[in-house]
Amino acid sequence: MPAAVSETERVGPRPPARPDRRLRRILHVDMDAFFAAVEILDDPTLAGRPLVVGGTGRRGVVASCSYEARVFGVHSAMPTAQARRLCPHAVFVPGRHDRYAELSRSIHAVLQRFTPLVEGISLDEAFLDVTGSERAVGPAEEIAWSIRSAIAQELRLDCSVGVAPAKFLAKLASEAAKPTAGPAGVQPGRGVVVIRPGEELAFLHPLTIETLWGVGPATAARLRRLGVHTVGDLAAVPCDVLEATVGRAHGRHLGQLARGVDDRPVEPERETKSVSQEETYPLDRRDRDGLRDELLRMADAVATRVRRAGRVGRTVTLKVRFGDFTTLTRSRTEPAGVADGQAIASIARALFDAIDVTRGVRLLGVGVSSLAAPGPASAEQMTLDLDRAAPPRPGGVRGDTGAPGGAERPSPAARRAAASGAVDSVRERFGAASLGPAALLGPGGIRVKRTGDAPWGPGAEPPGGAGGPRSGS
Ligand SMILES: [Mg+2]
Repeated sequence: MPAAVSETERVGPRPPARPDRRLRRILHVDMDAFFAAVEILDDPTLAGRPLVVGGTGRRGVVASCSYEARVFGVHSAMPTAQARRLCPHAVFVPGRHDRYAELSRSIHAVLQRFTPLVEGISLDEAFLDVTGSERAVGPAEEIAWSIRSAIAQELRLDCSVGVAPAKFLAKLASEAAKPTAGPAGVQPGRGVVVIRPGEELAFLHPLTIETLWGVGPATAARLRRLGVHTVGDLAAVPCDVLEATVGRAHGRHLGQLARGVDDRPVEPERETKSVSQEETYPLDRRDRDGLRDELLRMADAVATRVRRAGRVGRTVTLKVRFGDFTTLTRSRTEPAGVADGQAIASIARALFDAIDVTRGVRLLGVGVSSLAAPGPASAEQMTLDLDRAAPPRPGGVRGDTGAPGGAERPSPAARRAAASGAVDSVRERFGAASLGPAALLGPGGIRVKRTGDAPWGPGAEPPGGAGGPRSGS
């Protein structure tokens, strides 16, 4: 009896050979000192001065700084207190996340004119695959210069562009294209740096290992013990030694990068998988009611982003970190999904109410994950809070079937969705401070905090999935 023949063997033709990765033309566009540049754009008197954008509180962190501040050794992710010591005469501003997001959308729109294959990594960084655009739009290097001048002319902002056959090389190239700041002052950058096929290793091998994605201080220390200092040294290490040193998967990945190999595609419209908001407080907090207010504010911010992604979330997670850095997370899953601030807040508050905060809360956060397309069931779930706020009239029909001959009365779910949509569109036009939950209304108006008001702490924004080293934004 003949052996069973598998489908592929029977059908025969092999899939076409994988296209030569060296033919890919990837661009990495990175705005120069983005948040600081936006502040200067909106207030030209700041131009040429050391400027630091970030948290101004006790535990604040630098989010971005002008090159004039970098001359003094200030860099992003540094505690603001340290930046003040290094550069006491700098201008410190808290940052305006909405404004940066608005300009980020404009930048994205410019990039989309060159190719639909745009993968946004953060507010100020994107990868583009222009391999297929070259015939219509021109060589990749020309596209890079055109993007740079379009953004400069239309938005009056500077960016640096790297061009290479792979994503991580394009990112390293954009880094090499940037202005530099040192004791001698600010030096303009090259603007565009191109790594041509065949030039990858010449560019890569002299760099220190820390410039590679995935090489943090611990990995770097282990590699240095092997005598590995440059990417060229790394490429010379046999695979089995590398895997034994840093772990199998990591070792294999680093070995490939050191040889210039990175087949990861540019993935347009990266799908939002989770949305969260968290805040670190300058002093540990024990005020239960105040923290419950904070949960509503965060839930509201998270809900806006969930809706902007056109999704509902099935899992709501509460995160509490105490003064001694112990961290608790508590989750609840709502199969129907939630997308409005009140519903997310009521789940987060129920989780919070079961937690003892007498130790003092250092960090509080609300997240929504398992995002999915809204279905009919999720609309039903969203009625919960609205029903509480506005119970159906006696005899009223639940659901969206209007009584015959009478005025159509939308279902609670529809009204709630419409209300959330209206909130979003007002915020789009007038900024986050224009609308907020009534519970946050104080004597001075609505107390809406934005990322920029807070100490810029870890997790303020979801990290870019490509996991590159955070250069100054
Ligand atoms: Mg940047």
